[in-house]
Amino acid sequence: MSNVDVSLIIPCFNEEASVPPIFDEIKKTLTPIDKSFEILFIDDGSRDNTLAVLRSLASLDSAVHFISFSRNFGKEAALLAGLQAAQGDYIVTMDADGQDPPSLIPGMLDAVASGEFDCAGTRRVTRKGEPAIRSFFAGRFYSLMKKISDIEVLNGARDFRLMNRKYLLALLELQERNRFSKGIFPWIGFKIKWFEYENIERKKGKTKWSFWRLFLYSLDGMTAFSSKPLAIASLTGFLIFLASVASIAFIVIRKLIWGDPVSGWTSTVCIILFCSGVQLFTTGILGQYAAKIYTEVKHRPHYLIREAQ
Ligand code: UDP
Ligand code: MG
Repeated sequence: MSNVDVSLIIPCFNEEASVPPIFDEIKKTLTPIDKSFEILFIDDGSRDNTLAVLRSLASLDSAVHFISFSRNFGKEAALLAGLQAAQGDYIVTMDADGQDPPSLIPGMLDAVASGEFDCAGTRRVTRKGEPAIRSFFAGRFYSLMKKISDIEVLNGARDFRLMNRKYLLALLELQERNRFSKGIFPWIGFKIKWFEYENIERKKGKTKWSFWRLFLYSLDGMTAFSSKPLAIASLTGFLIFLASVASIAFIVIRKLIWGDPVSGWTSTVCIILFCSGVQLFTTGILGQYAAKIYTEVKHRPHYLIREAQ
């Protein structure tokens, strides 16, 4: 079909220090294998010298290609660009920072090439080296996702995967702009073999995921793969409606029996504050979905390419 057996897709955002070592490591692991491969770097609008590093690698080695975006579009867009451009029969997605060990690739390739599995996924079983607060919130996020969505997002599953073409084509059928890979992978199904390994700390440069960015990403994930928050909003509204019917009955009966002495300022203010709080909260949930619909219907491209080789 194609003249490349394995395509490696590596998104890079300000990774000038990480690209050369990961490239060397990949070369070292894959050269002994009797397969042809291409390494496709996606420069996601880096503001350092990543693009220059990629240009020089590509001019030295014909197996190296790159796509450079016009600005930073995010890792999901970079992955998508790579998946769309990959030529190989088997496709690997991995990070540039050395957290995804290339030494796992031969084993992953065997699992998928045997035909028994369509995809080899990796999971880190420890979160060694990660701030405790981050692991805690990650844990809460995964258990919440499990409760509110039908898909199971595995804690510790990484975007380091090896897949066959069938799996790749299935991934590309999902056209959504709000691409939450951690949910897309379990959603499409197929047979997956998991490889587990200990967490490896980023070798060079620093993580692009601040706590705030991770928090927003988790909201994206929830709205993309669950409509339960909407159900929770309606249910809250319904419960408050029931409570209000009960209190109306109570107030009316009290008036009929004891007349209407002017009192109850405190309770009135509490009720107003409570109801407006709940209203803002539920409108906020609605707003999250409306915003997502807005970005979907605009149908803007996922990314724009400035240079490619
Ligand atoms: N990345 C990207 N675009 C972004 C942010 C990150 O292409 O906007 C790339 C980054 O260069 C790296 C990978 O995505 O290769 C994972 O990023 P990072 O290591 O910062 O995330 P972490 O491992 O901390 O989850
Ligand atoms: Mg990393």
